[in-house]
Amino acid sequence: VDPAVREDMDKFLESFKGMKERFRLINRIGEGTFSTVYKAEDLNYDHYHNDWDLEEKENASTWKSPTPKRFKQCVDQHGETKRKPKYVAIKKIYVTSSPARILNELELLHDLERCNSLCPLITAFRNTDQVVAVLPYFRHTDFRDYFRNMLIPEVKTYFRSLFTALGAVHDKGILHRDIKPTNFLYDVEKERGVLVDFGLAEREGTDTKPCLCHSHPDVRRKRLYNSVTAAMGPSSGYPKSDSRPSRRANRAGTRGFRAPEVLFKCTEQTTKIDIWSAGVILLTILSRRFPFFNSADDVEAMIEIATMYGVKKMKQCAQLHGAVLESTIPTIGQQGFTIEKIILWSTMRNAEDGGASPLNTDELLAVKFLERCLELDPNKRISAREALVHEFLRVEEE
Ligand code: ADP
Ligand code: MG
Repeated sequence: VDPAVREDMDKFLESFKGMKERFRLINRIGEGTFSTVYKAEDLNYDHYHNDWDLEEKENASTWKSPTPKRFKQCVDQHGETKRKPKYVAIKKIYVTSSPARILNELELLHDLERCNSLCPLITAFRNTDQVVAVLPYFRHTDFRDYFRNMLIPEVKTYFRSLFTALGAVHDKGILHRDIKPTNFLYDVEKERGVLVDFGLAEREGTDTKPCLCHSHPDVRRKRLYNSVTAAMGPSSGYPKSDSRPSRRANRAGTRGFRAPEVLFKCTEQTTKIDIWSAGVILLTILSRRFPFFNSADDVEAMIEIATMYGVKKMKQCAQLHGAVLESTIPTIGQQGFTIEKIILWSTMRNAEDGGASPLNTDELLAVKFLERCLELDPNKRISAREALVHEFLRVEEE
């Protein structure tokens, strides 16, 4: 372990009352925008009452969960049987996070406790202004180490796992808001992943105001026309004194993974924003480029998406949320490009003469699925439940 990391861990153990007696910190495994995460050993592990070893033998043929030897059976305060892991991830949430935010993350994690594909919360502690969450440690592979070499069957397994997790979260009416490779811990060997980091998650319907994307297309056209003519007067162009109220919407997330409706400040965002982000991961894998979108801000992000889809579709997308998009950027074409073409370019393959695609049937199916995840219109975009029965992800019965 790096001496500086050691020092940081020692300082943390000293400053947090009771921590030293419970955990031995092994290493620092994550340092995000909102927290530092340590791998630790639960020092009370040997004291848990258990008959786990016996059970492990009995269920040896059916047991599929990772590293059973590292878990012990124990009974929690509600009298329920749980498996206690020996190794845990201790998430030290930065003291600058607002109490409301921390509470939100812990509450949502608690709500999602029973979902298999999500990393459950074991417990949480507070010492003065410092809050820590304790989760089972989940062994995983760094995305950068495997995404370039994934074969289609592996891609399917990865996304089956991710969409199972999303299905569980979305069924509860929760938006994760920060789907990206570092928040989906995937074990390449075990072909299993868990979703982590509910720091930006929210319940559907929190802080929402009606957005045009939820109304009938006829209503939308009329409202949009009225608001635009009111702002611009009879002549077109950028309004000089725009009297319309400025729009406020939740834009939390990570650049490059934000759905178009987030960029256009849709005030009624849904779980579909997570599907877009999952689509960006798939685009990354198929194009072998990470990060695929590399914008510094929301306007640049719009330009990137507009370049891909063409200005015509992007304008429609803006209108869907009551916004108007104007562009004089010459590199943004009217029509844009197909996802298939983008993947071929980025993997330096070219369509053969005669038009036959160099992509094989499986890859073409992946592209078809990706097009459903990256629909600009959230109403048309595939849901997690639909994704799991899509031809690409469906498990074929023998
Ligand atoms: P942040 O809000 O700071 O992004 P995360 O919850 O995403 O915090 O955790 C940051 C990193 O810590 C993750 O990307 C991952 O590498 C590591 N990590 C988090 N939870 C676990 C866990 N349960 N097991 C193993 N590693 C974890
Ligand atoms: Mg994170």
